[in-house]
Amino acid sequence: TPPPGLGSWTARRARSTPEHVALVHGDSRTTYAQLDDRVRRLAAGLRGLGVEPGDRVAYLGPNHPAFVETMFATTALGAVFVPLNTRLAADEVAFAVADTEPRVLVTAPDVSSAAMLTSSGSMAAVTTLEVGGTHDEVIATSDRADPVVTDPDDLAVLMFTSGTTGRPKAACLTHANLTWNALDVVVDVDLASDEVCLLSAPLFHAAALGMTCLPVLLKGGTLVLEQAFDPERTLDLVEREGVTIMFGVPTMFAALARTPRFADADLSGVRYLLCGGAPVPPSLLDTYADRGPAFLQGYGMTEAAPGVLLLDPAHARSKAGTAGRPHFFTDVALSPSGEILVRGPHVVPGYWRRPEETAAAFTDGWFRSGDVAEIDDEGFHRIVDRVKDLYISGGENVSPAEVEGVLTSHPDVLDAAVVGVPDDRWGEVGHAWVVLVPGAATTPDDLVAWLDGRLARFKTPRTVDVVDTLPRNPTGKLDKPALRRSLGQ
Ligand code: ATP
Ligand code: MG
Repeated sequence: TPPPGLGSWTARRARSTPEHVALVHGDSRTTYAQLDDRVRRLAAGLRGLGVEPGDRVAYLGPNHPAFVETMFATTALGAVFVPLNTRLAADEVAFAVADTEPRVLVTAPDVSSAAMLTSSGSMAAVTTLEVGGTHDEVIATSDRADPVVTDPDDLAVLMFTSGTTGRPKAACLTHANLTWNALDVVVDVDLASDEVCLLSAPLFHAAALGMTCLPVLLKGGTLVLEQAFDPERTLDLVEREGVTIMFGVPTMFAALARTPRFADADLSGVRYLLCGGAPVPPSLLDTYADRGPAFLQGYGMTEAAPGVLLLDPAHARSKAGTAGRPHFFTDVALSPSGEILVRGPHVVPGYWRRPEETAAAFTDGWFRSGDVAEIDDEGFHRIVDRVKDLYISGGENVSPAEVEGVLTSHPDVLDAAVVGVPDDRWGEVGHAWVVLVPGAATTPDDLVAWLDGRLARFKTPRTVDVVDTLPRNPTGKLDKPALRRSLGQ
């Protein structure tokens, strides 16, 4: 018999910890017994709608218990769950739907792209269920189905990458991929069975799903699901629900620290701030020092389900700016050009219906990350930059991430972005955008002068624009294509 698949997790939890609260959403609380009951009924209902093993069931909505129920009900049938990004435009969602051909699409009522899609007629062949409406009716009126036996290499989830470097690709996450990654997190984050994890980062990205949702549920802890990040509400929930772990990107924890209530808030019960997508600036470490929670910083990608590297709290300061060391079940190597290669039971077999991109990115069991890193003699990895973002000025390689790091260490600079732009003399030179702290009077010329002696001349941006905000995608990453477009590139 193969090892059990994702679709049996709620049944197993309902057997061992039926009374533990699995999900909190607003005022609603769902125990593992209740969750399993709803999952089984939804599985039977989906089967009744014609969902067969291998078929896809998509979910287009924010964080909500229905996301978790649909994922487990779908995988309990041996079918494939496809979470979709609510921030995409209707055309982009239509592309993802055409690419994955779901039999059923579960949507939340307040997602505008869902309304546009269903009214455009492009969903004619797809049964849609609405969260809070037909989705609940199916659960209420269906019998209970038992989870089917799946193979560890069967597809469980098709998860689109963030699309930072091009058109999003769906990574083929198997039952084994998601299980081994969850085990990596349970082991390395030292998760307890009474963990209460606040999740306001979107579940349709690999980081929230793989670094918190699945490992916390595997362990029998509680997920507090929030539709969006709201700093004030976050502080309320921390106290009301006894939150022990918060998951987010560095900009979220920075926003939390800017709320007036932050100074008096009781964060002593929070063990970890689990952070990914971008490095945590040292100033943010200082802000949370002595407040209780320790930063756990991760590096990973959708194709690795997603955990690859973890920086433990003991090294948060001495190794600041690095992304840490590999997870227990993960192998990491650097190619001769410094590109991070990843191998392990959680690395996907390839992309959905993209044989060329799969062939280019996966070789001999290794996934080519597209990120350049350096490793120190204690095994800590410093993510230098994306291969695609590096630029060459006067024959020298420049890492925009390095320049951004130096710029944000200026006391007046809140955020910074750098790209290479064509230059007749040097090939390329840097262009920077900076966001200043409110009221700061620093000028672009001051900044360039301040960089003298801190950065090599060839790395110093030739031009600097002061702006109010920088475009970041929901995973906290700078939207470099949008920035380049704003320069007419
Ligand atoms: P696409 O592959 O579609 O271009 P993407 O790579 O941004 O988009 P994800 O899989 O969500 O999609 O993100 C993975 C990438 O995020 C990594 O390859 C890396 O570039 C970046 N990243 C993740 N964690 C960190 C970190 N701690 N520090 C720096 N960069 C990180
Ligand atoms: Mg990528």
